Amino acid sequence: VPPHARTDPGGNVRVVVRVRAFLPREIERDAECLIHMDPVSQQTTLLVPTDNDPANARARSRKVMEEKSFTFDNSFWSHDTEDEHYATQEDVYDSLGEEFLDHNFEGYHTCIFAYGQTGSGKSYTMMGTPDHPGLIPRTCEDLFERIAAAQEETPNISYNVRVSYFEVYNEHVRDLLVPVVPHQAPYYLKIRESPTEGPYVKDLTEVPVRSLHEILRYMRIGDNNRTVASTKMNDTSSRSHAVFTIMLKQIHHDLETDETTERSSRIRLVDLAGSERAKSTEATGARLREGSNINKSLTTLGRVIAALADPKQQRARPGSSAARKDTSVVPYRDSILTWLLKDSLGGNSKTAMIACIAPSDYEETLSTLRYADQAK
Ligand code: ADP
Repeated sequence: VPPHARTDPGGNVRVVVRVRAFLPREIERDAECLIHMDPVSQQTTLLVPTDNDPANARARSRKVMEEKSFTFDNSFWSHDTEDEHYATQEDVYDSLGEEFLDHNFEGYHTCIFAYGQTGSGKSYTMMGTPDHPGLIPRTCEDLFERIAAAQEETPNISYNVRVSYFEVYNEHVRDLLVPVVPHQAPYYLKIRESPTEGPYVKDLTEVPVRSLHEILRYMRIGDNNRTVASTKMNDTSSRSHAVFTIMLKQIHHDLETDETTERSSRIRLVDLAGSERAKSTEATGARLREGSNINKSLTTLGRVIAALADPKQQRARPGSSAARKDTSVVPYRDSILTWLLKDSLGGNSKTAMIACIAPSDYEETLSTLRYADQAK
């Protein structure tokens, strides 16, 4: 099995894990790598001190470690560049982004989330750096390459691409394509629900884009506005969820009948707020409780994805006893993020969660792995 082969997505939700490399300061303090990944079984093992049990004081003093293992659809190792299993940005795109773009051309909505504590590699994975571009710029590049190729082969299909970029901060929506005005309070948008289109953000900027150059320019404008706004509010972007959306419309012109048919799909690429904010809640199964208002969206997303991954949910038909039970009703409306992404989650959509973890932090890592585990 090649290390980063595509795996069968199976259910509605694809869950992968990515450990980031050590940072210079971690190398300096000789931090220990607590993660092991098996490239064949895709199993991720975390070493945690047995002192997780507070009664076990003796173990705590001796730092006895135990292993906790989880298996996800893929595990991306990026801890040691010399390692043959090292997953580059390209590997991550090839095993996930490319396939999701296939689904978009087939007419499905898709949604990829990066989840994890602040500093675990979420924005590196989604946005990347100029030298190591992440999923968003790679998706944009591939999209325009495919459109150019298709226009040569099938000139009777035309393509229309639009983009929007917003963030959800403390249950408010902020348009990232609108410049931040100095000395003015941030401007929040309202959410509406249309019977045909579902929930949407009223007055959100949606711009048509015709080239890779154009779409990347909007990506950078939005990213910059996010940074400016968060600095102004004396906070970091780690508290907001950034949602980059590409709307792809394929217009098929039947030359014989002279009829046109349209196929629309939405590509959502989401850099979630740092998961350490959701710590006050126990992020597992039934014990998942509402967190503080700061990250209602993060805890609700966990419940929504767990409900979607639950086989009972897939069998439940509206009005059936399973659907009437609280546990199998998908709680989309409980948070702004899940409500807005309703169309991109479940149903005919493909969803992926990338659980990002740091190599030497067992507490946050365990909670991230548990959150991801309930999404399978
Ligand atoms: P987050 O968005 O979760 O807060 P970042 O993406 O900013 O985290 O990552 C924190 C730091 O780790 C950054 O300096 C980033 O460049 C680096 N980093 C993250 N993931 C990787 C990786 N897979 N390989 C190498 N460096 C990484």
